[in-house]
Amino acid sequence: MNTRSHDVIILGSGLAGLRAAVEIARNPDIDVAIISKAQLMRSNSVGAAGGTAAVMRPEDGDSFELHAWDTVKGADFLADQDVIMRFVEAMPGEILRLEHWGIPWARRTDGRINQRPFGGHSYPRATFASDKTGFYEVHALYDTLQKYGGVNVYAEVYISSIIIEDNIFRGVTAWDLTTGEFFFIQGKTLIIASGGACRMFGFTTHSYMATGDGMAMAYRAGIPIKDLEFLQFHPTGLVPSGILITEAARGEGGYLLNNKGERFMEKYAPERMELSPRDVVSRAETTEIVEGRGFNGPGGLDYVHCDLRHLGADKINERLPGIREVAMRFNFIDPIFEPIPIRPVAHYCMGGIHTNIDGATPVENIWAAGETACGSLHGGNRLGSNSTAECLVWGQITGEKAASYVSGHKSFPALPGEEKSKQEEARLFGRFKADGKEKSYDIRKELQKTMDGQLSVYRTGPEMEAALKKVKELKQRVPDMQVKDRGRIYNTDLLSAMEVENLLDLAEVLVTGALARTESRGAHSRRDFTKRDDINWLKHTLAYWTPDGPRLDYIPVTITMWQPVEKK
Ligand SMILES: Cc1cc2nc3c(=O)[nH]c(=O)nc-3n(C[C@H](O)[C@H](O)[C@H](O)COP(=O)(O)OP(=O)(O)OC[C@H]3O[C@@H](n4cnc5c(N)ncnc54)[C@H](O)[C@@H]3O)c2cc1C
Repeated sequence: MNTRSHDVIILGSGLAGLRAAVEIARNPDIDVAIISKAQLMRSNSVGAAGGTAAVMRPEDGDSFELHAWDTVKGADFLADQDVIMRFVEAMPGEILRLEHWGIPWARRTDGRINQRPFGGHSYPRATFASDKTGFYEVHALYDTLQKYGGVNVYAEVYISSIIIEDNIFRGVTAWDLTTGEFFFIQGKTLIIASGGACRMFGFTTHSYMATGDGMAMAYRAGIPIKDLEFLQFHPTGLVPSGILITEAARGEGGYLLNNKGERFMEKYAPERMELSPRDVVSRAETTEIVEGRGFNGPGGLDYVHCDLRHLGADKINERLPGIREVAMRFNFIDPIFEPIPIRPVAHYCMGGIHTNIDGATPVENIWAAGETACGSLHGGNRLGSNSTAECLVWGQITGEKAASYVSGHKSFPALPGEEKSKQEEARLFGRFKADGKEKSYDIRKELQKTMDGQLSVYRTGPEMEAALKKVKELKQRVPDMQVKDRGRIYNTDLLSAMEVENLLDLAEVLVTGALARTESRGAHSRRDFTKRDDINWLKHTLAYWTPDGPRLDYIPVTITMWQPVEKK
């Protein structure tokens, strides 16, 4: 078996993976590998724009309790409150660490770190670097990583499976896209930081690589997926591309207008207006569009307006230059003079790989961090700027935990039998035939059409049943997928087929969990069950893989300080 060995394997080089790598690399005795199916700096994280939440000004009235309460309420009470407290307390340290590692945080006139308002936060606590926060964060972490030796980089290497035997992680199977080589990477520990899965939707802010591979592999290897039915629709996706117009646009004072020129949020959330939590704003926009107060858009993508004109050229150029550039390049619109066409867009997986407060999965030497994980920080609805923050906090924690596990385990777990690797190589390169009848492109498109149409901002039982039937039908067509390219080097045809299979497994989990949950909570809004039902549904969904589809189980929500109250 062609094998490499590393103490810690980090699957993913986004914010969570890089933060974990920095934490581990500080220990020169530990051999760490960081793996990305794209170039190292091409993760989804570089697109993060608006900011990273942290309590930085307690002297001006912000507090851990306030940040925690905003997060609990935003989550519609489905988040674990012990997890939230740990998060808010850890965040200021992460902001200062990044500062020391060289990030150019925006400044106030007195020289202190600046922060901007974000939806659902009752205090302006989104720390930012222009409207390119994720880009600067990724670069600050990468630069810091260069200070340390012992970091092995596997760029453009696709991980196809996670091998677990006797509930112990053994290693991952890897395909080097640049050379075609297939090999096994043995590890003492694994941190899964492989990002979200929003590419199961067609209209999404996620990059093409966000196909939930790590989640799907973990699921198939026996680790449960938690709360995947909660998928966030961000209120401001640029029509028709789906590119994100950052929440910072509203944080800096932008308005949402319908076709009558009304700031319609007045009707839905008069206090917080455009800066209400994302689920609230997305539902309001959808109602405006459905009731005829939107604008006709291409391909059914009807929209409302995000208007920045009143902010003036100076503010737009200083605080939102990236947004202006995107609007001009993709829509030939200059936001200084014209409003931007936007609508709700699939943006973030609140659910993911089931972890505890330490980011530990049920397998003793596997952790998960970042968007792929569900440690229950975001519950039913994530607050903007809490995700990059989560990546930093649990990148650090899981890095520290994995390093300490390695210190206590001098030898590697036994290699799995050689046939495991051989089987996976055969599955990867042999399963799809050149003369298969189905194109992965068609299956992906049909999946996206189903999810966009039936699992969007508002859901109903019959629509979801139809969606589940469709997803199952698409899954049955997978074995007949055609892969014409028989080579192993940069075989994007094959890569796409593998990714589609991952998306289908996760779509099945999402729809099954959503159908079962007969209530409306956070981003899961049902027209046939319009109320939150704490008696029956104040619990987390766990989905376990079986050959016949997901088996659902439930575990309680941890409530420490705040009993659920109506979310108004
Ligand atoms: C446009 C946009 C703007 C956003 N703005 C903000 C914001 O302002 N504030 C905020 O808090 N959040 C924001 N978010 C959310 C936040 O950026 C993401 O949730 C977060 O960055 C995800 O980071 P991650 O490390 O979990 O994963 P990612 O950055 O998605 O990285 C995943 C990594 O896993 C690798 N990978 C995946 N599968 C495989 C495989 N099979 N083999 C090998 N490698 C693999 C990828 O190559 C990549 O390196 C935004 C999201 C988007 C899309």
